[in-house]
Amino acid sequence: MPRDYYEVLGVAKDASQDDIKKAYRTLAKKYHPDVTDLTKEEAEAKFKELSEAYEVLSDEGKRKTYDQYGHAGVNQQFSQGGFSWEDFTHADDISDIFGDLFGSMFGGGYGRRQQSRSRNSPRQGDSLRYDLEVTLQDVLKGKTAELSVPHSIQCSDCRGTGGKDGQIETCQVCKGAGQVQKVSRTPFGNMVSVGDCGNCNGSGKTFKERCPKCRGSGRTNITSKVSVNIPKGVEEDMRLKVAGAGDAGANGGPSGDLFVVVHVKGDKNFERDGMNLWTAVTTTYPKLVLGGEETVKTIDGETISVTIPAGTQVGGVLRIAGKGLPKLNQNTRGNMFVRVMMNVPNKVSAYEKELLTKLDDNAGKKPPGKSKSKLRQKIDEKLDEL
Ligand SMILES: [Zn+2]
Ligand SMILES: [Zn+2]
Repeated sequence: MPRDYYEVLGVAKDASQDDIKKAYRTLAKKYHPDVTDLTKEEAEAKFKELSEAYEVLSDEGKRKTYDQYGHAGVNQQFSQGGFSWEDFTHADDISDIFGDLFGSMFGGGYGRRQQSRSRNSPRQGDSLRYDLEVTLQDVLKGKTAELSVPHSIQCSDCRGTGGKDGQIETCQVCKGAGQVQKVSRTPFGNMVSVGDCGNCNGSGKTFKERCPKCRGSGRTNITSKVSVNIPKGVEEDMRLKVAGAGDAGANGGPSGDLFVVVHVKGDKNFERDGMNLWTAVTTTYPKLVLGGEETVKTIDGETISVTIPAGTQVGGVLRIAGKGLPKLNQNTRGNMFVRVMMNVPNKVSAYEKELLTKLDDNAGKKPPGKSKSKLRQKIDEKLDEL
């Protein structure tokens, strides 16, 4: 069981993003291989723990899921069901402390954003986002969603090279480096900068003839069927990762990932409040007073009978245990709360009118008080005159 993320970073539960970043940087410095007494393995384990905590707490969405569901909630969002370096996206936040050392120390496998500047080295393809709407019933049971995802793949005719039949040659302008030095004149003198080679667009390779299928881009667009498992209890805005289902990589690099962002549709009968559901039942005045039974629908689709206790107020709430939504990936369910409403008829029969009139003690009587006090006033006035 991993340690509590707040404890790992030594911050309070309500720490601000600034505090979290500060704590992470401070601890990262503390375990720098130049200053720590720890062995390489121990230092790496420490870092991994720190970085996992930071990855989650620095992202408000992940932090919320963690606060609510703990480690089980966030592991779902990591590529291998648990944190690994490839899930770490904040290398930039401490790159000034570690520079290249970090990359070489841990095998360079962390941080997808840490990519080589040179465009002719393998690059991972773009990651894609897919917004998926699910119903409350899907939240209840979970489901496998079949998505149609438009994305790019490596062109099969040229094997991604862009040259006809895959035939390519080294760019003569940059000698395959993909980058060239550019000299530009500025008011401060000549400035030398390094930029992508214009002849090969930074790939370092050119071709005599373009691949007719992909027109030299090395990629073609297709729509793929992607299955994604929506866990029961899924939360609004939860991101589910489908590794490798994004756009094609370049120069032999891996494909990007697909992130499915879940949105839960509104429901006409139920309102969600975390694991709990709210609904309403309409009853009559006699049942509120004397108690009685009404029926309500549950999210499971069944109709159940609920008891209105005698003396229930309009707007009173009844709790039905275990008829709410499941906890993420678990069978434990929240509650269903039923708000009791009353229907006031705007037309009644003569018989009903008679009954209601009898029910109302004061009906038909003149309101007491006013005439009495006027009489009393007059008596008082007379008394004063005497
Ligand atoms: Zn092609
Ligand atoms: Zn070139």
